[in-house]
Amino acid sequence: MTGSGHSFFDASFPAWETYDPKREINVAKVAFVDGPDGVFDYKIPDRLADAVVPGVRVLAPLGVRNRSVTAYCVEVVQRDASEFAQDAAPAKPVKRAQAKSQSATPLFAEADDPAPEPEPEPPQTKKIFKLKELTDAVDRKPVLSPKLLELGLWLAKRYLSPIGATLDGIVPVGVRDSIGTRLTTVYELAPNADKLLARVDSVKNKSQYDLLTPKQRFVLDELRKLDEPPTASELARIAKCSIAPITALKNLGVLKLRRVRRVSDFYTELIEAEKHVEPGKPHVLNDEQQAALDAILGALRNEEAPTFLLRGATGSGKTEVYIRAIEEVVSYGKQAIVLVPEISLTPQTVQRFRARLGAVAVLHSRLTDLERKAEWEKIATGKAKVVVGARSAIFAPTPRLGLIVIDEEHETSFKQDVVPRYHARVVARWRAQRENAPLVLGSATPSLESWRNVQLNNYRLLTLSRRVRNLPMPPVYVVDMRTKTASGFSVGALCQRLCRDIEAALDADPTNQVVLLLNRRGYSTHIQCPSCGETLKCPDCDVALTHHITQQIAICHYCDYQIPAPKTCPYCGANAIKYGGFGTQKLEQEFATRFPNVPLLRMDSDTTQAKDAHEKFLSAFRRGEYRVLLGTQMIAKGLDFPNVVLVGIINADVALHLPDFRASERTFDLILQASGRAGRGDKEGKVVVQTYQPDHPAIVAASRGEYEEFAESELKLRRMTGFPPFMSAIRFIVRSPSEQDADEFAKRLAEELRGAIRAVNLERGFNPSAPPPPPAGNEMFRDAAGRTFISPQAVQRPRPPLAAKILGPAPAPFAKLRGNYRFHLQALGAPGDLLREAAERVCAAKLKTPRDVQWIVDVDPLDSL
Ligand code: ADP
Ligand code: ZN
Repeated sequence: MTGSGHSFFDASFPAWETYDPKREINVAKVAFVDGPDGVFDYKIPDRLADAVVPGVRVLAPLGVRNRSVTAYCVEVVQRDASEFAQDAAPAKPVKRAQAKSQSATPLFAEADDPAPEPEPEPPQTKKIFKLKELTDAVDRKPVLSPKLLELGLWLAKRYLSPIGATLDGIVPVGVRDSIGTRLTTVYELAPNADKLLARVDSVKNKSQYDLLTPKQRFVLDELRKLDEPPTASELARIAKCSIAPITALKNLGVLKLRRVRRVSDFYTELIEAEKHVEPGKPHVLNDEQQAALDAILGALRNEEAPTFLLRGATGSGKTEVYIRAIEEVVSYGKQAIVLVPEISLTPQTVQRFRARLGAVAVLHSRLTDLERKAEWEKIATGKAKVVVGARSAIFAPTPRLGLIVIDEEHETSFKQDVVPRYHARVVARWRAQRENAPLVLGSATPSLESWRNVQLNNYRLLTLSRRVRNLPMPPVYVVDMRTKTASGFSVGALCQRLCRDIEAALDADPTNQVVLLLNRRGYSTHIQCPSCGETLKCPDCDVALTHHITQQIAICHYCDYQIPAPKTCPYCGANAIKYGGFGTQKLEQEFATRFPNVPLLRMDSDTTQAKDAHEKFLSAFRRGEYRVLLGTQMIAKGLDFPNVVLVGIINADVALHLPDFRASERTFDLILQASGRAGRGDKEGKVVVQTYQPDHPAIVAASRGEYEEFAESELKLRRMTGFPPFMSAIRFIVRSPSEQDADEFAKRLAEELRGAIRAVNLERGFNPSAPPPPPAGNEMFRDAAGRTFISPQAVQRPRPPLAAKILGPAPAPFAKLRGNYRFHLQALGAPGDLLREAAERVCAAKLKTPRDVQWIVDVDPLDSL
C-alpha cells in the first residue's frame, strides 16, 4: 500500500463506486407562495425527513442565486436517485409537467362536469437535473389538513390560479403565522420512562418506582392523564405540588423537556370565553317548513349528499329550517358550515345561531388575526359544532363536516375578486360532495345558475311560498318618473307619491320607520358644463367625478382623486357649471327640507368608515333613534326591522344601465330584496319603486314578485344569446399605462385563446372543418351571428367538442382606472371544463408580457366592468 493509490479510508469515492441505482430519495413537491406557478421537486434532506409532510410550508432555494422562498409542500414521494444527476448538471428545481394535470383523476374532477379522460403520461424527461435540497421547514404542524390541501389543489385548477398563492389564500394569516403563540418548554414522559422506573436499585433492592416519593408518583399519574404536554407550572398546579418533584423526575430522566409553540394566555382566554347566551326556543314549523326540513333530514339519514335550493321570501322561515337541520347534524357529532353574505353577518344573526345551537364559531373579515385563529382552532378541534361566516368560511377546517348552508346564495359577494377568484357556491358544492354532506342553498331570488340546476335536476327545489305568520308580501307601487305628475315637486329626487307615503307612514304611528334606498353616494353624481357639455371626469379613471358637498370637493369613487368643486368649467372656462344627479348626501338634504325634525340616518361608505360604525348605526335604527334610514345597497339585504312599513327605491334603474348581461337579474334582486325589508313585523308594509323604465321586464316582474316568470324569460334570453348559465365564461383583463400596449396584448391573448380552443378540439379528435355533429333534438342552437352552440344537456354526454366564442378584445366599460387603460375579452363556451382547459393553456404558455402590462384571468366572472 504505497504511492498514490486510493486509500480505502479516502472519503470521496468516484461516483460509480457509490452509485446505487436502487437508492430511493425523498422528494417534496412544492408550490411557491410568490414565485413561478406549478409544482417543483426538491430533495428533502434527512434532517427534515420528519418535518416535511404535505400541508407544511417549507423554504426552498430558487433561481441561480438560490433565493430562499416560501412554498407549500403538496406531496412527498420516493424517487429513484438515478433519475437525478449527483453532481454534473447545474442544480435546478424540476418542474413536474403540471403536477395538477398528472392526475387524471377524481381529485380534480368536478361535480358538475363529466369525468375527464385519463391524460396520457407526460413523456419522461431525458434531461437529468440535480435536485436542490429544501432549506428548512417553516411549520411544525401542517397548516393545511389533507382535505384542505386537496381542496386547494382543485381550487387552483378550477379557477386557473397559481397553486401556491391559492393554498396561501385559504388559510387565514393568523393561523399561518403562529400569531398569539410563543415558544415554551413543556414536560413529557421520556420514551424509556417505564424501563427506567422498573430498574431495580441494587443497593436498596427496590425499583426506581418504589423509590419515588408519593408526590412524585402523583405527578406521574396526573401527567399520564393529559392529552397535551404541560409546562412545569401547569403540571405543578394540576398535581397540586411545588416544582421540586417535577425537577426531581426530570433529573431521574423520567421526564423530558421539549420546546413547543404554544398559544399565549390571552388567546386561551379568548377560546374559553364562551359568550353566555339565553337558549332560544324552536318554533312549531308550518307545513312547508316541515316538508323542506323532512327532505333535508331524509338526505342526512340516508347519508346522501344532494344540493337543495330552498326558495322563500325574506321572512318565510328559511333560517328556522337551517337551524333544525343543523341540530340533527350536530346530534350525529358532526359539524355544519353556514355561509351568509358579509353584510348580513351581524351580531343578531350570530346570536340567533348561538341561542339555538350553542358553540358557534364565527369567521368574518372584521376579526383580528388573533380572533380568527381562535375561531379556526375551535373548529379544527371540533369544539365548535357550527361555523357561521362569510365567503371564506367555506374553507373552515371542520374535521367532520355534515352539512353546508349558503343563505342568500344569489349574492355576488360570494365570489372573491382577488386570487383565488372562487365562488363559494362552487367550492361548497365540490366540498359537500367530497365529504358526503348535503348542501342547502337559500334565497328569495335564486341565481339563474342555481335555477337552471333545478331545471336540470341537479338541485332539488324546496319552496316556502308564504311568510310565516301569514304576513302578506308588501304591495309594490311602480312610479313612472318620466311623467310630469310623477316628478311632482319639480326638481327633487323624491316623487310626490313617495313623499305622501312617507308622511302618512310617519304620522300613522310614532314607531313606524321608513327605509330609502339610493345606490349612489355623494351629493351630485354628475358635474357638467352647460356651455361645452363636458362632464367632469377623473384624469386617471374614465369615471365621472362626484360632488361631495360637506367638503366641497369633486371626488373619484375609484381612486379617491379629489379637486375643489369647480365654479367655472375647467374645459371651456364658461362661468357656469351644473351639478346634476342625486347622491345620498343630496337626498339627505332634500329630505331635511321636506321633513324638518324627522331624524334620518344616512348609511353609505362615507358615513360607515369607522370600525363597527355599521353595526352601531343599525342597532340605533333598530332601537328607534331614527325614523328614516337612507342608504346605498349596504342596507338592502337581510336586515330585519319589524317597524319598517315603507321602503322607497329612489332610482331602480341604476343597475340596468350597466353594460352587463346580468343587469336585469341584479335589478330584479335589488327590488325584491328591498321589498323584503318592508312589513316584517306585525305591520303591513309597502314599497315604492321610482323608475324611468316602468315597462322593463325586470321591474315589472319584481313589482309583482314573480320570480319564476322572470327566471323563465331571462333564461330564454340567456340561452338565445349564449350566456351563462348556458355557457361557461372566462374573462381576461389586461391593463397598462400604455393604451397601445394593453390593446396589443389583449389581441395577442385572444389569438392564443383561439389557438388553444382549436388545439383542444383537435386533440379530442374533433375536426373543426368537418360539419358539426348532428344536433340531438333541441340540443343545438345558434347565436345572432349564426354560430352554433351545444346546450348543457348535450354537454353531459362524454367529450363533446368545445364550442366557444370570444367577445372582444375591447376596452372594458371602465376603460381607464387609476391611470391604467383596461382592455378585456370574454370567452363563452361549453363544456366548461374544456373551455377552462383552453384558457389554462394560454396561462401556461408563459406569454412574453411587456413590462408595463399586467393581466389576470377570471373564471366564471360575475363582474364585467
Ligand atoms: P328567513 O330566514 O326566510 O328570512 P326566518 O327563519 O328568519 O326567515 O323567519 C322569520 C321570522 O319568523 C323569525 O323571527 C323567526 O323566528 C320566525 N319564525 C320562523 N319560523 C316560524 C314558525 N314556524 N312559527 C313562528 N315563527 C317563525
Ligand atoms: Zn380616478
